[in-house]
Amino acid sequence: MTALIDLFPPERAEGPIEYFRRLSVRNGYADWLSLIRATGLNPSLNALWKNKPTLVDTLGLDPEWLNVVMPPTAAGQGLHDPFFRRTATDAVCPQCLAEGDHLHHAWSHSLVSACPDHGTALIDTCPSCGETLSQGRFDLATCDCGYALREAAAPSANPFERWVSARLAGQMRPIEGVPEIGAPEDYIGLGKLLFSLAIRLDPTAKVKPGKTSRPHDVAQTRALIESIRPLFEAWPQGFNTHVRDRLIAGNQAVFSPSGRLGAWYTNLHGASRKANAFAPLWTAFSDAMIDHFDGNLRGQQVLTPSPDRERRFVSVAEAARLIGVSGPKLSTALKAGIVAGHISKQGTAYTLALMDREEVERIRTERARWITANDAAVAAGVPPSVIAHLVEAGLLKNDDEWSQAILKGGPIEKASAETLLEHLKSLVVPREAAETLRFGQLIGRRTTDSKGIRRLYQAIHSGEVRATAYTPGCGLDGLTYATEEIRRYLGSVGLTDGMTLTQLEKATGWKYEALSHWAQSGLLKTIDVLLQGRSARLVTNTALADFRRTWIPVSDLAQAMGTKSSALTAKIAQRGLPIHGQLALPSGAGGCWGCSGCP
Ligand SMILES: [Zn+2]
Ligand SMILES: [Zn+2]
Repeated sequence: MTALIDLFPPERAEGPIEYFRRLSVRNGYADWLSLIRATGLNPSLNALWKNKPTLVDTLGLDPEWLNVVMPPTAAGQGLHDPFFRRTATDAVCPQCLAEGDHLHHAWSHSLVSACPDHGTALIDTCPSCGETLSQGRFDLATCDCGYALREAAAPSANPFERWVSARLAGQMRPIEGVPEIGAPEDYIGLGKLLFSLAIRLDPTAKVKPGKTSRPHDVAQTRALIESIRPLFEAWPQGFNTHVRDRLIAGNQAVFSPSGRLGAWYTNLHGASRKANAFAPLWTAFSDAMIDHFDGNLRGQQVLTPSPDRERRFVSVAEAARLIGVSGPKLSTALKAGIVAGHISKQGTAYTLALMDREEVERIRTERARWITANDAAVAAGVPPSVIAHLVEAGLLKNDDEWSQAILKGGPIEKASAETLLEHLKSLVVPREAAETLRFGQLIGRRTTDSKGIRRLYQAIHSGEVRATAYTPGCGLDGLTYATEEIRRYLGSVGLTDGMTLTQLEKATGWKYEALSHWAQSGLLKTIDVLLQGRSARLVTNTALADFRRTWIPVSDLAQAMGTKSSALTAKIAQRGLPIHGQLALPSGAGGCWGCSGCP
């Protein structure tokens, strides 16, 4: 029985060894190792945890006290992890020592370099004698040279150092500019995670896990923490960049995440996803993979990217869908090198082809420069036939072979349609016109006079025929032209609301010669137009209605009365009524024709 004379409870900040060190000092032991050996135990962390009842019995400790410094659930974890225990030197915060003559458990962790309470770095060298602080010194707050460590000035620590030290110690105070990469309970694994990130920081370095040493002193700790600080900068950008660099540095012939990233991936996965910890960190990693990995992510349910994160590299099938072409067509273009992609053989049968979303976007942009005739028609506000005629007239740039070209979405160059509109707008001469036609109406609905149409469009393009007005926002159809001017090039424009004399003969049964005579004598109003390159006379619907209101052809009247025209003509003459527009036909076949004024 080695019961202690001076017994006291542990301080909140103390760990088991810090507590035992204070007990040994107060009770006259040379050091804590001697104190533990006196109990018959091996002075190791492992032995202490396994033999708590022995400690209680032999030292007369309160079991509750022991549970404060050695919580049953924390064995070997967090600050209690023996792997990270500082063995060579003591690291202390002078200001904390000024506030209480005990050591902090956190200072024993070889990745802790700062005091989050005071914002300063720990010191492990005496400012007076220059010696490192020995773990066997007699007074915890005094260097063996006699210097009171509470007097020492400590350099300030940067926010990342303070964050690392706070989280390792289980403190969750927010630190500006440093992200939270997990839930509070996750940080118990932070030491292993940061150490793994640090020793594998250089993607090309070969790391033998068993042979990597922890930092020996505070300077080395600070250097290690500083080395991984860029990964946590501008979160998650710094980490994203780091993952990208690792993917580039990895073996490009390997297309699985673990194959490309190696042990670094295995360790990160083990510390976060597999341990169900550090979810934000794993999301940052997943996002980086979505952004930068050009390998196979099929079936990679292990990744947990942010919602709506779109993968930068997409399969050819997906790229084809985004572009709006068939998969085989895109594959052919890819193999021909017309578009860029990443083709790799995996095994003997399986070929992986991926395309960068940027390339997909480039193809889409290129294709959008060439549009279908229908789209061109919609944009111009005119029927598709107008577009076809504009192409024929050479006013729109066209590629009939467009469907062979992956970079063209249609046969019409969109820019040429825009240029044409701008050009025609610049030619507008605003003026009044009795009758006007919109651009889309210029060629009528069923015009077959393609030569006439070409001539008309060319005349419009050259400025011989100019629009009388432009309504903004209506495309080409916003341009209006004087009907009279258009007819000079294309008589058929009037056909939709009128007939030539030949058509009128067919429709009414009135002889062409008679119609021509009535037109010459002014009874029937006609307009001179150009049809299929030949001049013709056109009777508009209005002119025909006017004619019918004023005149009745004798032939029509005779038919209505069931008599012959010649008989009726004779009868009319007997009554002394005038007959107008009479014409003697050379053939003599039908006698006299005419029309008479209505009473
Ligand atoms: Zn402090
Ligand atoms: Zn000293």
